[in-house]
Amino acid sequence: MKAAYDVVVVGSGYGGGVAASRLSRAGQRVCVIERGREVPTGAFPGRLPELRRELQLNGGKMRSGARTGLYDFHLGADIHVLVGCGLGGGSLINAGVALRPDARVFADRAWPEEVTKDELLDLGFERAQIMLRPSRYAKAPELTKYRALETASAAFGQDPVAAPVVVSFEDTVNPAGVAQPACTLCGDCCSGCNVGAKNTVAMTYLPDAKAHGAEIFTELSVSHVEKRGQSWRVHIVATDEKDGAPRYVDAKTVVLSAGTLGSTEVLLRSRERGLKLSDRLGEGFSANGDIIAFALGGRQKVNGIGVGEPPKFDGATIGACVAGQIELPDHGDLDHSMIIQEGVLPSALAPLLPVFFIKGGRLLGAAQSLIKGVYQGPLSHLHTFFVVSHDDAKGHLKLEKGSLRVHWPNVAEQPVYARVDEALTKAAQAVGARYIKSPLATTSAGTKPATAHPLGGCGMGEDATRGVVNHKCQVFDGANGEGVHTGLYVCDGAVIPRSIGCNPLLTITALTERAMVHLARDHNLGFDTAPLRDRERALPLG
Ligand SMILES: Cc1cc2nc3c(=O)[nH]c(=O)nc-3n(C[C@H](O)[C@H](O)[C@H](O)COP(=O)(O)OP(=O)(O)OC[C@H]3O[C@@H](n4cnc5c(N)ncnc54)[C@H](O)[C@@H]3O)c2cc1C
Ligand code: SF4
Repeated sequence: MKAAYDVVVVGSGYGGGVAASRLSRAGQRVCVIERGREVPTGAFPGRLPELRRELQLNGGKMRSGARTGLYDFHLGADIHVLVGCGLGGGSLINAGVALRPDARVFADRAWPEEVTKDELLDLGFERAQIMLRPSRYAKAPELTKYRALETASAAFGQDPVAAPVVVSFEDTVNPAGVAQPACTLCGDCCSGCNVGAKNTVAMTYLPDAKAHGAEIFTELSVSHVEKRGQSWRVHIVATDEKDGAPRYVDAKTVVLSAGTLGSTEVLLRSRERGLKLSDRLGEGFSANGDIIAFALGGRQKVNGIGVGEPPKFDGATIGACVAGQIELPDHGDLDHSMIIQEGVLPSALAPLLPVFFIKGGRLLGAAQSLIKGVYQGPLSHLHTFFVVSHDDAKGHLKLEKGSLRVHWPNVAEQPVYARVDEALTKAAQAVGARYIKSPLATTSAGTKPATAHPLGGCGMGEDATRGVVNHKCQVFDGANGEGVHTGLYVCDGAVIPRSIGCNPLLTITALTERAMVHLARDHNLGFDTAPLRDRERALPLG
């Protein structure tokens, strides 16, 4: 790593990937710093012991697992949060559903007005779609799990539709010039795609950034940033070395894209060391009304457990993690809208499922072969539902003894959870199944809500009394007014000031695309967005 760059991007999820790609295309010398590891296609966990090694649990005093583990679980006193850790961030382990929120979301006064005043939000969504290429699987209605969702949808009098997912369903060379083979419908998207068909940030924006000169460093964590005259000093420690020597790198521009938890944590630490920031820092945390729940014992086969790559079981076509969804907009009250998606559990979890879901499952698991139990027995009738909706975004992120903690007293009383319970109970009844809110309900972990869509903490606002960043993602320089710290940006889920009622990856990408256009205009920079595949030969997959 050099001593200084024009731009340091912290984190490599959607926000970080967009910033690195666009700013390196603008001729800036860009350095990306990611706390996690690079996981090449083929090296994602396919078996339970591998999956276990990728788990890190963070819960106040309690900590276990490698700090570079792909699955970073924050166990909270009120709510649990799951985020991805690795080169590509959450994109490595997410289901890839890419939706644009209901227009009423952006009309809410939680956002600064400017966000929808210019045409750049639409341009952001357009660019996000060109790079990430969401598509609906044409044969989705033929999948067993889609048909099971169809039966469940009778409860709402509304048919499901195929869900747009960032998956390549045909062999392709993508806009970053990377060759991607077609999806094998193995279902293992949430443990990482070992085929290379998921259009992750590691397959799209990051190779684009690298091809334009960005330098990318992994297994390094940013602790805080410090203003030094006209530039910024970014303080770094090795992620998994407890006593590694601290180091730093300087840059004129710093883009914090460490995710909702990560960017808020970096700014909270920076504030502890004297950086002037809005008092809204850490406020406005939302779980995006995100819920995972199950139903078991129904009449219909679901085939909702992945088979992996290479397949652990022949004879079942699963489909990408999410293939169908039931859209339930409430035209009177936005906050009552919800989307119910059917989901697939990764094949690496298969050995645990009899234990979680079936009475005496431990014995059953021992007595029967795993294949019979999971792919042919009762668990082939297991429905997994992902729901997205709305909450009041009143959670708080705080530093406690140097680590980030999520606080949201009585979050479980948020009306969204009762509404979703009611809807899923009806869906389970429609398929003749038993609704299982949480297979861990008898443990303290299972009684609390959990989310994989954390938002907020550095929310956008008109000024520092209402937000931490402005509509261009520039960080306000104090508790009042519209003044900003020159060269300091937050671009990721942290800037979203409310729940958005749909899966957030496309919105995060679009808001960052929008912010990059403003950054370029404000600094007399320019960049083109022409796909690399049209300009240069394809890079081999790897
Ligand atoms: C299992 C699962 C399924 C999901 N399914 C969907 C879905 O279908 N559709 C959808 O839209 N969303 C989905 N999501 C959510 C989505 O993936 C996230 O909202 C998205 O990844 C957030 O993007 P981001 O840019 O804000 O941050 P992230 O993608 O979280 O990236 C932040 C990056 O910063 C790194 N980082 C953190 N702290 C530091 C630090 N101090 N120094 C250096 N690096 C740091 C992290 O390791 C990470 O790589 C899912 C998430 C999970 C976990
Ligand atoms: S279903 Fe399998 S091959 Fe297709 S995107 Fe998901 S993990 Fe990759």
